[in-house]
Amino acid sequence: MPSEPPKGAAPGKAGVKKCPICGKPATDASKPFCSERCRDVDLNRWLSGSYVVPGRPEADEDADQ
Ligand SMILES: [Zn+2]
Repeated sequence: MPSEPPKGAAPGKAGVKKCPICGKPATDASKPFCSERCRDVDLNRWLSGSYVVPGRPEADEDADQ
């Protein structure tokens, strides 16, 4: 009898957080965000004094230069 757990249901990497802005997997360069864009969006929200999600469409873009 196989003693190993079934493969396929488990995620590839453990500890990979999702971007709190758009929900995409965070990158190592901009973690815990997926990109510098989302990191900047998060920063601006804190600086604005109100950490609220207005639902801007620009947060959904993932255009990396
Ligand atoms: Zn993001």
